[in-house]
Amino acid sequence: MIIIMNANATQQQIDNVEKKLFEIGFKTHPIYGDVKTVIGAIGDKRLLSTHDISSMPGVEALVPIMKPYKLAGKELKREATIVKVRDVEIGGKDIVVMAGPCAIENEENYIQAAIKVKEAGAKILRGGAFKPRTSPYAFQGLEEEGLKIMAKAREHTGLALVTEVVDTRDVELIASYTDIIQVGARNMQNFKLLHEVGLTNKAILLKRGLAATIEEWLMAAEYIMAAGNQNIILCERGIRTYETATRNTIDMGAIPVVKELSHLPIVVDPSHASGTWKYVNALSKGAIATGADGLIIEVHLDPCNALCDGPQSLKPSKYTELMNELRPVAQAVGRNL
Ligand code: PEP
Ligand code: MN
Repeated sequence: MIIIMNANATQQQIDNVEKKLFEIGFKTHPIYGDVKTVIGAIGDKRLLSTHDISSMPGVEALVPIMKPYKLAGKELKREATIVKVRDVEIGGKDIVVMAGPCAIENEENYIQAAIKVKEAGAKILRGGAFKPRTSPYAFQGLEEEGLKIMAKAREHTGLALVTEVVDTRDVELIASYTDIIQVGARNMQNFKLLHEVGLTNKAILLKRGLAATIEEWLMAAEYIMAAGNQNIILCERGIRTYETATRNTIDMGAIPVVKELSHLPIVVDPSHASGTWKYVNALSKGAIATGADGLIIEVHLDPCNALCDGPQSLKPSKYTELMNELRPVAQAVGRNL
């Protein structure tokens, strides 16, 4: 970290800042310029959490050198993380597609949808049992009954499962059924929930918050990792902008940025990003071409009658078409699908 002193900072103020940093546990190296003095401070920035150097007299600014996300960032681990879920590897050469309905509605339809997405090449089955809906009057999910149906679908198809947790009190229950725990966009900065899923040994699908910067998203991953769980898959699912033509605005630029800043795998959710099934195909291709490690796509047997997110859900036939069209795109960027 570098502390930039004001041009008119006194020697006493410079000494006071150095003394304070030394007391906290930093080594300091002042550099006296013609106009300004800067102090190089070497130590763990976390030591600063209870001290406010920036408001000391004579201080102009604090400039961090290390990224604040130590575990999620590449400064301490350069090689890509591959998250293993049953026999599926996310973050390796294979593009992994997760697919299934937004919510589990009943056993028969869910298992049917699971069979269809598996036939078309999905490796992981999605489904919501606890639904974070904007309206309290909308379908909230089948809860544990839904988890039981998911487990049956896994028995039937062999597909690994991903489902969302919305409450710290349900983490243990959900972990006992699922293979991947999803933390949804609305909970990306629910720090208690992040800590709690960090205590499990399940892979975590961490969706980007509706208005989260990439740094905030990586800091959310850091919370999970700091609690002990390193198996995180990031998921870009669109952010809020002034544009209303799509439900959210997909941030394709986040894919190469995350790849540069973090060793964690990243997948893209074109369904929630667009809100419209018609755009899912193009956005999926774009995501793979841009370097995503996978996709999570909503598929419903009968989107018109879906209890949740029907307008953005693909029919199984459209999903199969998409998977076939994605293969050459994956190959073009050196990946398998
Ligand atoms: C979902 O995956 O069903 C969901 C609610 O996603 P998001 O948190 O991205 O809105
Ligand atoms: Mn949904």
